[in-house]
Parts: sequence; C-alpha cells; structure tokens
Amino acid sequence: MAYSESVYERAKKELEKRRATAQAERDLRHSNLILNHPEIVELEKQMANASLELIRSAAQGKKVEIQRLKQQSLDAQAKRREIVVSEGYPEDYLDIPYSCKKCEDTGFIDGRMCDCFEKTLKAISYADLCKISPVKKSGFEDFKIELYPSDLDEHGVSPRKQMNDIATYCINYANDFSLSSPSLLFSGKTGLGKTHLSLAIADKVIDKGYNLIYGSAQNLLNKVENEHFGRGDSKTETLDKMLDCDLLILDDLGAEFSTQFTVATIYNIINSRMLTSLPTIISTNLNPQELEDRYTERVTSRIISSYIPLMFCGKDIRQIKKNI
Ligand SMILES: [Zn+2]
Repeated sequence: MAYSESVYERAKKELEKRRATAQAERDLRHSNLILNHPEIVELEKQMANASLELIRSAAQGKKVEIQRLKQQSLDAQAKRREIVVSEGYPEDYLDIPYSCKKCEDTGFIDGRMCDCFEKTLKAISYADLCKISPVKKSGFEDFKIELYPSDLDEHGVSPRKQMNDIATYCINYANDFSLSSPSLLFSGKTGLGKTHLSLAIADKVIDKGYNLIYGSAQNLLNKVENEHFGRGDSKTETLDKMLDCDLLILDDLGAEFSTQFTVATIYNIINSRMLTSLPTIISTNLNPQELEDRYTERVTSRIISSYIPLMFCGKDIRQIKKNI
C-alpha cells in the first residue's frame, strides 16, 4: 500500500531506533556479564577465530579441518551458554533482543516488507490522523442504532431503519475500500452521527494500510491558508496531502469561516480529486441549496453529480446520550 514519503521515512527511523536500542541492550548485558566472568571474552575470541578459520578452510576445501573448527566453535558457544544459565539468565540472553526476530528490526525479509514494518507504517499514519483532528477513536461497534427513533418522522421515514441502512453501507464501504471507491456526501443536522461514522470508516481504512487525511473543514482550511500565506513551516504540505491522499475525509463542511480563498480551495480540492478519481467523504449540515449559496453552483454541481448522498436523520444523538 502506498504511504506518503514522510510516513515511510519516520517508520524507517523508528525501526532503526529499535535496532539500536536492541544492540545497546545486548551490549549492556554483555558488559555486565563479563565483569563477573572475564572468561567469556576468551570464549568469544575462540568463536571469532573459528569463524575466520572456517572461511579460509572452506575456500581450500579442507573437510577435516572444517569439522574440527565447527566443533571448536560449538564447544565455545556451549561453555558461554553454561555461564549465562549459571547466572540465572535464559540461554539466549546474549543474543540481540530485537523487537521483531523475523527481520531483526530491519523491516525486510529477503527484500519483502516484514509485518512489523507494515504495522509501524499504520501506527504512524493513525498518529497523523489524530494530530490533525484530535478526536477520540470511534468504531462501528459503538455506533448505537437504538438511539435513533424507530417511529416514522414527518417525511414518513423511520430514522432507525434509514440509519441502519447507512451504517451498513458505511461498514461495507470501509471493508471493501479501494482507490476506486466512490465519494460520499454525508448530510443532515448536527449530532446525527456523521462524524462518528466518518471516523469509523477512517479507522478501518487506515487498518487496511491506506493513507488518509481526516479533519474538520475549518482546521484543514486554516492550515492550508496559513501555509499559503507563509505562516506555516511548509508552503503547501497540507494542501498536497489533501489532494494526494488515498481518502480525504472533510468533516463539517460549511462550518468554516468562508472567504474567497476557502471557496477557491474547496473547489480546487473537490475538482482535483475528481480528476484523479480519488475518493473523498464530505460531511455537512448544509442542504444542497445552502451548499450552492456558499460555494457557488460550480462546486455544488460537482458534489451532487459525483458523490453518493447519504441523508442522516433522527434526533440529536448527543442530546439523547446526555439524557440517558
Ligand atoms: Zn519484522
């Protein structure tokens, strides 16, 4: 799966750190042991010599000599192991205690990426998500469908049934997510679970190894604006990420402070991601007319024509939760 270069670099550094820590831990164990058992140094010299001699003898094809050297090395190893065990340590105490024994914290096994590297990439990606929008983790399992009224509302719709359909759609969307997944438009009033389901999708999609940007429109646009006007560290980092990430989740579109710059940026983001066929999820409290009033017909028609609309309904869940 494609991760951004920055995530990749940080994961590599993290593995390097693990490797160095493991090596340092091994050195510490070793130096403590030889304080009481200096004979270990002599045994290790024998092991090293045997290895060197082995290479030489192998090159010369001296079979008997090879056998003798192998035995010499094994004997020295066994003696060292005895000392380690006599001190009450496990046999492998002097091996380097790598976090991942499979790849010895290099992240690769025979040129293939090891699981531990993949896991580290995901963890960093998720940490990025939390940094951009420090919200608590939400999953599909804590989406409470029973909080939605089952009685028909004024439009003849049962909010519980509708929301159950939406939640099921979102679960399938997250499970089957790929770069060719459609874009979604979550609309409906505040407190109906739009953020919750967006985060639940985010959680699953990150688990699948995709890189994702999640944030409120307000936060993300602020960052883009600061960078654009030279008030951030980088000129276009946030905008670039928003244009390139595998999934962009723009929460609460319409709540941001609207300027010509934000309207143009929203258009740029929606249009560019449409052209590169990358999925986007937008959630908003605004109805289509309000969207048009705010972002012009050009932006709105793009959303309406290419996003799958999911209409959230019911009563403010946060209010209901408070009253339980
Ligand atoms: Zn590994």
